[in-house]
Amino acid sequence: MEKIYFDYAATTPTDPEVIKAMQPYFFEHFGNASSPHSIGRESQKALEDARGVVSQFVGANPNDIVFNSGATEGNNHAISGIVYHAMDRGNHIVVCSAEHHSVLVPIEQLQRDGFKVTYLPVDSNGLVDPASVKAAINDQTILIAVMHANNEVGSIQPIKEISVIAKERNIPFLVDACQSVGHLSLDVNELGCDLLTFSAHKFYGPKGVGAIYIREGIKVSSFLLGGDQERDRRASTQNISAIVGMAKAIELCKDELLTEYAREEKMRDRLIEEIPKRIDGVKVNGDLKNRLANNAHFSFENLEGESLLMSLDMQGICASMGSACTSGAMEPSHVLRAMGLDDALAYGSLRITLGRWTTDENIDFLLEQLPQLVGSLRL
Ligand code: PMP
Repeated sequence: MEKIYFDYAATTPTDPEVIKAMQPYFFEHFGNASSPHSIGRESQKALEDARGVVSQFVGANPNDIVFNSGATEGNNHAISGIVYHAMDRGNHIVVCSAEHHSVLVPIEQLQRDGFKVTYLPVDSNGLVDPASVKAAINDQTILIAVMHANNEVGSIQPIKEISVIAKERNIPFLVDACQSVGHLSLDVNELGCDLLTFSAHKFYGPKGVGAIYIREGIKVSSFLLGGDQERDRRASTQNISAIVGMAKAIELCKDELLTEYAREEKMRDRLIEEIPKRIDGVKVNGDLKNRLANNAHFSFENLEGESLLMSLDMQGICASMGSACTSGAMEPSHVLRAMGLDDALAYGSLRITLGRWTTDENIDFLLEQLPQLVGSLRL
């Protein structure tokens, strides 16, 4: 059976062009980028070329990009790195309640260690009100963390407005852009954030590689201690093949950013329009205007989302309820809860995320299958 993949927010296939670009860096150019000989220098050049591509894509200075293993590491690095440096200035953190667990869990750990945390509420569309950030800040605040685009419902936060507030008070501002980099055009100076994190596997690059942008002048301690790689900000031998792959993935995204955005947006809008027309008792989640082009998210009344996913899978359709990182957990999504959904609706959720290989025919098939599957599973 042909599989239809509707879970691009969880991860994307690695583009064959990316794999081709990576291949020479396993055997032919295998050097350690810190080695002074010619084989090492080849790797050093590939590393810095990739840094140029990645930094340009997010509007950053190349020196402000640190390669790492992905957004989980980036978020952990940003949080512990900022806090370590700012502990003598204050002990208060402001964070959006709908963040990814790679932001929330390290902050919960700090809270257990005695830090004070204000969790920003989101509205019924999943959006933070910048005024609530202003109200939450006090003279002890040392970090603000609000994600760019939500991984479950796709809502895009008012980052520029929050940056202005963070800047006024001189508080470092972390933006998790794991779902947006590679999918929409983004510039760290336009956004105004101080730290930005992302992962290559969300935009057709390999898994286990990503980067953190750290604005010049922002004091962040190293995350991994050891060698002086990445200008002393992250020890460990750089994964050159993966980094080259990430840069290639970015080049491919750059070429198609606008056309692909428009193509996915059209398919997304068809789902958002058609599903409530064809099925009763459906709620569309997330902001309809400020939204990722590839995300459609629904809650069905009187339905177990897990059963729906299994039935879809039997038809060859791979989708999710929300974050892949929490599926299998019995707790309903913290994002949907923060948006005010009751547990029953949160349990009846379906996230459809689109990407480079999604076709109109895939959407037709889903629209055809979904009403009868939902009908047969309704409680
Ligand atoms: N932040 C967000 C918003 C994400 O969607 C993800 C991946 N689901 C992460 C962070 C973590 O990324 P990774 O698993 O690549 O470390």
